[in-house]
Amino acid sequence: MKTFAIITLGCKVNQYESQQIRQLLESNGLCQVANSDGADLIVTNTCCVTSIASSKSRQAIRKALRNNKNATLVVAGCLPASPTDELGDIGGNTLVVGQKSHLGHKLQTLINENSTKQPTEYSKPTQNAEIKHKHPPRTDNDADKLNLLRSYTGQSRAFVKIQDGCDGFCTYCIVPTIRTELNSKPEKAVLKEVSALVYAGHREIVLTGIFLGAYGRQTVRRWKWDEPRKNLFAGLLDKIASVDGLERVRLSSLEPADVRDELIEVFCKHRNIMPHLHLPLQSGSNSILKKMCRQYNIDAFLETAEVLQKKLDRPAITTDIIVGFPGETEKDFEETMTVAKKVGFAKMHVFSFSRRKNTPAYSMDNKLAPEVIKQRSKILHELDEKGQEIFREKFSGEKVGVIIEDTAERKGRCERYFMVSFAGNKPLERGELVYGTLNEDGKTAKLTH
Ligand code: SF4
Repeated sequence: MKTFAIITLGCKVNQYESQQIRQLLESNGLCQVANSDGADLIVTNTCCVTSIASSKSRQAIRKALRNNKNATLVVAGCLPASPTDELGDIGGNTLVVGQKSHLGHKLQTLINENSTKQPTEYSKPTQNAEIKHKHPPRTDNDADKLNLLRSYTGQSRAFVKIQDGCDGFCTYCIVPTIRTELNSKPEKAVLKEVSALVYAGHREIVLTGIFLGAYGRQTVRRWKWDEPRKNLFAGLLDKIASVDGLERVRLSSLEPADVRDELIEVFCKHRNIMPHLHLPLQSGSNSILKKMCRQYNIDAFLETAEVLQKKLDRPAITTDIIVGFPGETEKDFEETMTVAKKVGFAKMHVFSFSRRKNTPAYSMDNKLAPEVIKQRSKILHELDEKGQEIFREKFSGEKVGVIIEDTAERKGRCERYFMVSFAGNKPLERGELVYGTLNEDGKTAKLTH
C-alpha cells in the first residue's frame, strides 16, 4: 500500500477530520494522490445530514469501488455511524467504520497489515498542496492515533476542531444521533495545534465544532450547566487570539445564545478576531422555533444582533434559515422576512426543509406543499442577494485585507468573509494576505500592497 486518496463530503468538522486521516496515512509513509483512480487506499469521509447528503455519499462510494477494483476502500464519517441504515450493502474490498472513535486504530491496523513501509518522520507534501508548509518536528510518538494537525493541505484557511458532539436534539437535526459524545479538546492541545498551523504558514484559523458555545461542557443544554454565566469558550478564544504570529481567527458557527458580554469583550480586545459571526436563525417565528426546539426566541436573537452591531465595527452577521418547516404559515414566513430585514444579514444560507429519517420533524403534521417551499425559498434568496450587495457596498472606498484562495481568479475572502477579486497582472500566491481599496461594486478592489 503506497498511495491513498480521501473523498470528503459534508461540513467543516468532516474536513478537519479528513486532514487528521491524511496526516496519519502520511506519517505511515503513504503518499496522497489528488485523483482517487489508481490509489491503493481510498477513504470516503461521508455525510448524512440530509437524505441527499447520504445519497451523494453512497454515489461517491460506488464510484470509487467501480473505478478502483484493486483498491481497499474505507467508509468512514457520519453515514456508517448513523441509525438511518442508508449505507446498504457495499461489497468489494471495504472496511466500514461505524464507530468514529475507532477510525484511527482501524486505519493503523489496516496499514500495518498491508504495508512494509516504515513511518516517515515528517508528513510528505501532497500532490494538491499549494501552500508551502514548513513541518515542525514531531514531539510525540503518535502515529497510531488521529492527532493534532501540524499542517493543513489543499486550502489557505485551516480549520481547527475544538469541540465535538451535540445533545440538543433540535427536531429537524440528525447530528445528536451520530455525534453522540460531547467532548472538548483541552486548551493546551488547542493552543499547540494553532501554533503548529501558524508555523506551517496558515494566516487564518477557523475554529470549528458541532456546538462551539458548549466548549468545556458535558451538554449543550444550558439549563443544565454549572456556573452558566461562565463563558469557557470566550476564555479559550482570548488565548487563541494571543498565539504568536496568528494573523486571523474566525469562528465557524455559534448559537445565538452563546454570544454574551464576555465573548464580545474578547472580540473587541483582539484585532485578529474577524468581525464575522455566523448565527443560525433557522426561523423568524417564535412558534416555529419552539417546534424546532431551539434554545432562543426572536427577541433574544434581535437583541444579540443589536449588541454586536453596537459594539463591533459593522460586523458581518451571517445565518442559516430553514424554509417550509412543518406548520410554517404565511405569517411565520413573513416574520422570518421581517427579522432578516431588521438584522441585515451579510449572507443567508437558505435551506428548504426536507424530512430527515430518525428525527422528530420527519413525522410532524402540516407539511407544506413543495411549490410553497420553493416560492418562499425564492423570495428569501432574492432578499439575500440584495442584502449581500447592501452589506458589501458599505465598505466601498475602504481598505480590505484579503487572503487569496483562487490565484486564477485573483480572489479571496476579506475580514467580513465576502469574496473580493483584484484586477491586474501582479502574481498573487495562494494563502497570501494582500490589501486593497474596495471599489464601488463591493466585489472588486485595487491592490495597495
Ligand atoms: S444544536 Fe441543534 S442543529 Fe445544532 S447540531 Fe445540535 S441538534 Fe443539530
